Amino acid sequence: MPTFEEARKIILDSVIPLGVEKVEILTAVGRVLAEDIAAPWDMPLWDNTAMDGYAVHADDCPEAATLQLAGFLPAGGSMTEAVARGTAVKILTGAPIPPGADAVIPFEETEEKDGQVVIKKAVKPRDHIRFKGEDVKAGETVLAAGTLLRPSEISMLASFGKVFVPVHRKVRVAVLSTGDELVEPGEALAPGKIINSNSLALAAAVKQAGGIPVMLGIARDNRESLREKLVEGLRADVLITSAGVSAGDRDYVRDVLSELMVTQAFWKVDIKPGRPTAFGLRDGKPIFSLPGNPVSSLLTFEEFVRPALLKMMGHRRVLKPLVKATLKEAVRKKPGRVNFIRVAVEQENGEFYVQSAGKQDTGYLKTLLLADGIAVIPAEQEDLKAGDQVNVHLLDGDGGMVEA
Ligand code: AMP
Ligand code: MG
Repeated sequence: MPTFEEARKIILDSVIPLGVEKVEILTAVGRVLAEDIAAPWDMPLWDNTAMDGYAVHADDCPEAATLQLAGFLPAGGSMTEAVARGTAVKILTGAPIPPGADAVIPFEETEEKDGQVVIKKAVKPRDHIRFKGEDVKAGETVLAAGTLLRPSEISMLASFGKVFVPVHRKVRVAVLSTGDELVEPGEALAPGKIINSNSLALAAAVKQAGGIPVMLGIARDNRESLREKLVEGLRADVLITSAGVSAGDRDYVRDVLSELMVTQAFWKVDIKPGRPTAFGLRDGKPIFSLPGNPVSSLLTFEEFVRPALLKMMGHRRVLKPLVKATLKEAVRKKPGRVNFIRVAVEQENGEFYVQSAGKQDTGYLKTLLLADGIAVIPAEQEDLKAGDQVNVHLLDGDGGMVEA
């Protein structure tokens, strides 16, 4: 049985980024660029003024001076005629520097009166000019394949007129719940039945990771039903099943997957909770069999599935950083395997403090609602005391944020 770290390595080593699609630029935010992008032109395109002011010959103003007003150049305008010596052209931020001028003096340091501009301070060549190509040179790789597209990257792409952007495909993830006890939300409950919450929970987690969930519904605890649904699920990029992989009599998921030529990488991981987590591959396609317990299925999704989905969507950074946090209370831990503890996270003066978010028994889903993070306690660690440091991985949401 692999350790937590071994299991995650097996998974991440066996998935690769999906292919490329071109999407409309605004749709590309949050996606990962699939090709290098070279600048088609210089940025700025031409020398332009960084300030509202007057374009001048610096030589005319080695000290305070008075110049003749010789024109007006708003943003969007351009001028072919050179600025004559002894004159100044009124210019607004972003407008191209007219030929001849080699500096701009901001309005604040001037006074305009009767067609004359009084320059109150000495002007140096290059003052307040943004030069052509200063930010980006034509041909330069401004964005490398693998870059996550945030508003700043969208800004750069937009400034180069890119309307469609090559990104990695979103991963399509088939989600299948298994069990004779399950009914779908909205259906009538009967004695012994419970609602299939895992399908929606896992689909929500897929969406939050940036993937596209494909809902397969429920497979019953028999080979025929499982086979039919698993075959359908294997058409997606990834298949996630929940439940039916423990040692129970009716847990056929494992058998049917191997009949479907899924190579089993592991069937258990040495973690708590989440031990009955399985992973297999068919022709490079990953299949995750997660525990049926709602808490375990979400925790194992977070630790194993999410990083894999991110890698498939081209992300280079797929693991959340572990932040160091101080325990506000003691935590019981038996040595042997990695434990995941659902914790409430607080920040004080830039330091993280955590405490148990509630009862840690996996029967308590509510504890996961109150958790902002998962404390990952190393296998050999024993009981921890208040004040001890733990590694915490923050869950998506506002757990790492503070109130205004
Ligand atoms: P199993 O892995 O089949 O032994 O299931 C473990 C526990 O998870 C049992 O209490 C199941 O009732 C529960 N469970 C299994 N599948 C789901 C599901 N889709 N939604 C909610 N709970 C589930
Ligand atoms: Mg079951």
